[in-house]
Amino acid sequence: MASQNAIGIDLGTTFSAFAYLDRNGMPQTIANLEGDLVTPSAVFFDYGEAVVGREAIKAASYEPEAVAMFAKRDVGKPLYHRPIRGQHLPPEVILAAVLRKLKDDAAIKLDQVEEGVITVPAFFNEPKRKAVMDAGRLAGLKVLDIINEPTAAAIAYGVQAGFVTKDGLVREPETILVYDLGGGTFDVTLMKIEGSAYTALATDGDSQLGGIDWDQRIVQFLAEAFLEKHRIDPREDAAAHQALMREAEEAKRGLSTRSNLTVRFAHQGRRIQVALSREEFESLTADLVQRTIFTADKLLRDARSSWAEITRILLVGGSTRMPMIAAELEQQSGMSVDRSISPDEAVAHGAALYAGFLQRGGRAADRNLAVKNVNSHDLGVLGLEKETGMKRRRTMIPRNTTLPARSRSRFVTHRVNQQRVVIHVVEGGDDSGKNATPIGKCIVSDLPPRLPAKTPVIVQFFYAANGRLSVKAALPDVGVEASTTIEKAYGLSEEELVEWESRIAQGKYLLEVERPKRGVDETEAWFAAPPAADAEPNQDFDGPHVFQENEDSEIFSDLEF
Ligand code: ADP
Ligand code: MG
Repeated sequence: MASQNAIGIDLGTTFSAFAYLDRNGMPQTIANLEGDLVTPSAVFFDYGEAVVGREAIKAASYEPEAVAMFAKRDVGKPLYHRPIRGQHLPPEVILAAVLRKLKDDAAIKLDQVEEGVITVPAFFNEPKRKAVMDAGRLAGLKVLDIINEPTAAAIAYGVQAGFVTKDGLVREPETILVYDLGGGTFDVTLMKIEGSAYTALATDGDSQLGGIDWDQRIVQFLAEAFLEKHRIDPREDAAAHQALMREAEEAKRGLSTRSNLTVRFAHQGRRIQVALSREEFESLTADLVQRTIFTADKLLRDARSSWAEITRILLVGGSTRMPMIAAELEQQSGMSVDRSISPDEAVAHGAALYAGFLQRGGRAADRNLAVKNVNSHDLGVLGLEKETGMKRRRTMIPRNTTLPARSRSRFVTHRVNQQRVVIHVVEGGDDSGKNATPIGKCIVSDLPPRLPAKTPVIVQFFYAANGRLSVKAALPDVGVEASTTIEKAYGLSEEELVEWESRIAQGKYLLEVERPKRGVDETEAWFAAPPAADAEPNQDFDGPHVFQENEDSEIFSDLEF
């Protein structure tokens, strides 16, 4: 059956999970080849081969230079934040390696896997969504669609916990808070489900807060105990620090089910043995929990909602297994939280259900289950303000608008005899256009000679539910128009994608790296690999589509600013 070979993939920052629909149309998590339900999103570039998952994590302690982790954080940037064996890789390529493992492992269980749905955080902007699509393509997966993680979680909870019927209808209108605390990120989303419409009302988060911060508190606790007893700080030694982090994470997991445990740690022949209670752990990390509550409160305020309006709280992400999370949410909301499905599988399950909907009947919106999304950044146009001549941004579709969304705005040309009008489409930033990310251009060219200044230009935006933005610009007075669909203006170009596809097919993730000959000190050879000569700091690199100051003078806006 066709619906059986589409998979739903939760491509996580630290862990990924994948699921398919069984004969009854219910989602089942697929265990990877190692037998685990979640796979670390880490890739060890063992020369030609890309080794993903548990083994890559292990490799990180002896060959950190060859292991890529947290690549999802770099999505949308041209390159992963550091070189791998001296070579710079786009994050798409690293994620493709992860997706490929999942697809290959799924194929063992399901025979053939060609199609899938991949989830992304609700706040991912256009370039990031495209990058994830491209990663799927590089992995040889036909990406049916991208869906927001909280939407997927709500679908999974809804169908599995029974407040949504199997055909996707909610029995009563629901206002749902999806609280997702993962390995390195926190995301919170307010959703409304009415009939068959799933609407994300607002989304917020903290990109620097996750399970790892809870681990760090235990690391600190253990290191201080070690220091006190042996006058040595194990954190000063990289390998010992790593080992301490592993120990801490294990202890943290233990405290999710036990109220007391003993942590043991040895370094340089010295050892400690420390008792740690859940209560103590909770007081060591209370401020972290409060930070998530602070963000959730802010989200509710932004959405002009309140805890009292929430009908369900859904827990997503491995870190919500810590009892302190549900306890604090219950305290805040005065209601019990839904823990009916496994928090680290919910997103993948929802993605699999959504893949099934798509396979059965095309677009989700045409089916019983209409999945609505919101845009997470303002979308606008850069222009000049009439009175001041200053660069301004006019918002066309404000943040948190339910998709699909349309908008129409009137501008005028700036100069006499303008031959073309360039509409600079931007995402985010402020009203002066500062910090706005250019995401594409719509160019109306071949304007008739001697066109007077202030000729009206009508700009229309159509933002589809799948996140694709169509921009149309028309000069009705002269009957000229142009339109563009924003998908390809950033990230890897078609040519680059084709090249990577063929490199990946040949296992050439890295170019011309030779395995060191036997007999040499391999460790040293690995660590000595110099960074590529053209090493580029990643942060400030904006790709080839940098907004050019002078170009926007060709269009400026009306007084409506
Ligand atoms: P991602 O952020 O990649 O989506 P997950 O949602 O799988 O990742 O969350 C991973 C985090 O969940 C890690 O920090 C891990 O330590 C934590 N975690 C997993 N299981 C437990 C548990 N039983 N108790 C506490 N934390 C857990
Ligand atoms: Mg996650």
